[in-house]
Amino acid sequence: MIAEVIINRIAKDLNKIFDYIVPKDMENTIKIGARIFVPFGPKNSNIEGFVIGLKQESEFANKEIIKIEDIPLTEENIELAKLMARRYFCNISECIKLMLPPGEKTTNLENRIKDKTANFVYLKKDIDEIEMEIDLGQLKNAKHIKVLRFLSENDGIYKADLEILAEVSSATLKTLEKKDYIEIIEQKIERNPFKSREIKHDKPLPLTEEQQIAFDKISNSKFNEFLIYGVTGSGKTEVYLQLIQNVIDKGKRAIVLVPEISLTPQMVDRFSARFGDCISVLHSKLSTGERNDQWKNIKENKCKIVIGARSAIFAPVQNLGIIIIDEEHDTSYKSDMAPRFNAKDIATYIAKKNDIPLVLGSATPDISTYYNAKNIIRLTKRANNSDLPDVEIVDLRQELANGNRSILSEKLKKEIEKNLENKKQTILFLNRRGFSTFVMCRDCGYTVKCKRCNISLTYHMKEDKLKCHYCGYEMNNIKTCPKCKSKNIKHFGSGTQKLEELIYSTYPQATTIRMDIDTVSKKNSHEKILNQFKEENIDILIGTQMVVKGHHFPNVTLVGVIAADASLNTEDFRANERTFDILVQVAGRAGREKLPGKVIIQTYSPENFCIECSKEQNYDNFYKTEIELRKQLKYPPFCDIIMFGINSVDKDEIKEASEKLYNLLKKYGQAEMQIMPPLPAPIDRIKYKYRWRIIAKCKLNNKIIDIINRALEDYYNLKYKKTRVSVDVNPNNMS
Ligand code: ADP
Ligand code: ZN
Ligand code: ZN
Repeated sequence: MIAEVIINRIAKDLNKIFDYIVPKDMENTIKIGARIFVPFGPKNSNIEGFVIGLKQESEFANKEIIKIEDIPLTEENIELAKLMARRYFCNISECIKLMLPPGEKTTNLENRIKDKTANFVYLKKDIDEIEMEIDLGQLKNAKHIKVLRFLSENDGIYKADLEILAEVSSATLKTLEKKDYIEIIEQKIERNPFKSREIKHDKPLPLTEEQQIAFDKISNSKFNEFLIYGVTGSGKTEVYLQLIQNVIDKGKRAIVLVPEISLTPQMVDRFSARFGDCISVLHSKLSTGERNDQWKNIKENKCKIVIGARSAIFAPVQNLGIIIIDEEHDTSYKSDMAPRFNAKDIATYIAKKNDIPLVLGSATPDISTYYNAKNIIRLTKRANNSDLPDVEIVDLRQELANGNRSILSEKLKKEIEKNLENKKQTILFLNRRGFSTFVMCRDCGYTVKCKRCNISLTYHMKEDKLKCHYCGYEMNNIKTCPKCKSKNIKHFGSGTQKLEELIYSTYPQATTIRMDIDTVSKKNSHEKILNQFKEENIDILIGTQMVVKGHHFPNVTLVGVIAADASLNTEDFRANERTFDILVQVAGRAGREKLPGKVIIQTYSPENFCIECSKEQNYDNFYKTEIELRKQLKYPPFCDIIMFGINSVDKDEIKEASEKLYNLLKKYGQAEMQIMPPLPAPIDRIKYKYRWRIIAKCKLNNKIIDIINRALEDYYNLKYKKTRVSVDVNPNNMS
């Protein structure tokens, strides 16, 4: 017998499959999905791999499998991994990783639960930066490299687990800590952070007529995709809850996907209140050990509902009865890292396999979802009959003309004042963090850029530092121009810190809290800030888009959008969609209960249709205009955008490699695809790496997928050592 084996971690060769002889005594135990060890390479080192196929003969096999470790995957897993590798142009082993228990085999946490605290290890440097140092030969110690790479996939792991899994000594970790690569932190063990809370049990509500129609259509359906399109508060979640109950009553299980950021305890509480503690929660803030626990529970069929972010779609749920994807338009369902999969596609695949319904829900559906949807179920009324907030657009050009140079319009200032007097809460939204967005010398025009990236640095006032938002590089603030020695340095643009300063000086009596990546770290979740805002009744919450998602603040009656245009002027094909979504969502934070809400949207382009439509919160009108534009411009859903991202430390090699890849794509796909010649990306250097890209437009189908895979295979045979290529279909980020 011969096993087809994929070796774990051959990053640059796409999916090379190796044939190994299965020794006689293993023939009965070996299965597709087995984790094995095989002799590999010129030194025949003992390397981990996975069996992805079994057959009787092979001309190539001449070595035997050494050992079967375990069988963590099913044949279905392997089939999906193969499909994904082909469809997302990545390694099978990268796809397999998503289906393995997080952190794989961890030490027995049950034994350690009596301890109240444990040491956790976090990566301090970005993995790209580490890879860079490895490429440049600055980091050579193989042990160190192994640990750091392991950590990049299992950040925040228990130290004891790390020592076992990465086979590393405490002393080595100490060294890495000294060298500032990692930090070791003693933290409370919260085995299940969501289950410790006291939750009142609740009962299903009698459904409204619209909800009942939705429920009836879906509840007895076989495989089908449904889109529940209804404004926030229209009762979508109540429908999900009852659909899940229906599935559980039949002895089946459910997967619910939610955007990472809205996976809050409140959200989980709603499910716990209805279903008790038969829920498993999977998300990235859990430690590896905790995620591993959850995974095991699911596998052992101990829970009925899995709630999680993107990767939870791979949870080993048996006897699945329904998949629900809430806020389906959210970009976090698409992975920006390899495998660059879209959880919605995977959900469709799994739902089809299990012949069960897939439910997508949104107030502002993804344009492509809406266009392709065959079963749209509308919820038109807010279930608790609260009104939509009153939205007012303020033209910032007019403000300037009237001599107001502040980022707060007169109108917004007045409304904030009124709200403060009435002891009501306000949210101010600005999607730029830091103080100023760039620093420039007024005399010679020099702007301060990151030394590792081709990007201007942002001033952070509290630390008096200039920071790069792409790689984390920091330097001291400058008082004189490094180029012409002038002292005429000026800060342009405004971020959340500047807004906070402005609020302090304008309303010294007001209490404020700020929420952006700088105030939210791994150990201090945005959850805490939001709770504080709610419970301490803080007057004003200032934040980036973290503030917009799914939170319920009964006392918030005013929402101000400082610069609605910020997301419009990007070259992203989803720029309009993003802008509209975010405006509708921010507006949804105001007046969620009895109190009427007011929303002020400040903009330099009030005539733009995204902004006009957000005034009425009218998705239908927005959709009508946007879909026409997409058609004209040949954007999704009419065409797919395939972005080949090329990265390299070598300025010359990247150019040559890009040309070669372009020629191969032309060679195989000229007739099928519109392929643009390679060009440096808009941000052409990040973390010392040069960035080029090739963009192709076409409708992605099997033929095109084959063409691209063939071109990539030829490309990899050219063996460019310092250059990496990634392929992203309809990427979230085009910069
Ligand atoms: P969505 O998920 O669309 O934002 P929810 O399901 O959260 O909407 O419902 C919004 C509010 O309306 C919640 O407070 C919920 O308890 C309430 N609600 C939902 N359905 C009903 C119903 N059938 N009868 C009464 N209240 C309802
Ligand atoms: Zn200067
Ligand atoms: Zn940088």
